[in-house]
Amino acid sequence: MYRFSRAIYRELAGEITEDPHGFGALTNHERVLRACESAIERLATDRHYFARPARTLFCDIRPYFPMGAQPRVLRVIERYLECADEFLRRQPQNGFDVYGNPLQCRATTRKGSPCQRMPLPDKGYCPSHQHLAETEQLEPLAA
Ligand SMILES: [Zn+2]
Repeated sequence: MYRFSRAIYRELAGEITEDPHGFGALTNHERVLRACESAIERLATDRHYFARPARTLFCDIRPYFPMGAQPRVLRVIERYLECADEFLRRQPQNGFDVYGNPLQCRATTRKGSPCQRMPLPDKGYCPSHQHLAETEQLEPLAA
């Protein structure tokens, strides 16, 4: 998965500003790379709760770019996150995410423990809990 975050970073690295009086252990280059990595990781492992990945990553890293470069930064982010998302959606649904962690239904059982059943590909819920996905989809409209 990190080829996506590295690709974003490589496209943008030339425009990152370094603060000559910067403090802290990390340079702005490292901050940008880490933000890209965590966005991709979240896309891969927590897609259902990651509503606007491109916008989130853009807000995280925009302070490290000059104003004039920001429209391009957003375009690059959108392009690569779309590719990563597309790639993830095409992965065979074999019960594991791209990191090899077993997929689990997102619902909680009546006893309060996480549901152990295998989720449906698009919903993130098992067949008996899939109605929960439908209520989730309605929420943004109500908001
Ligand atoms: Zn379930």
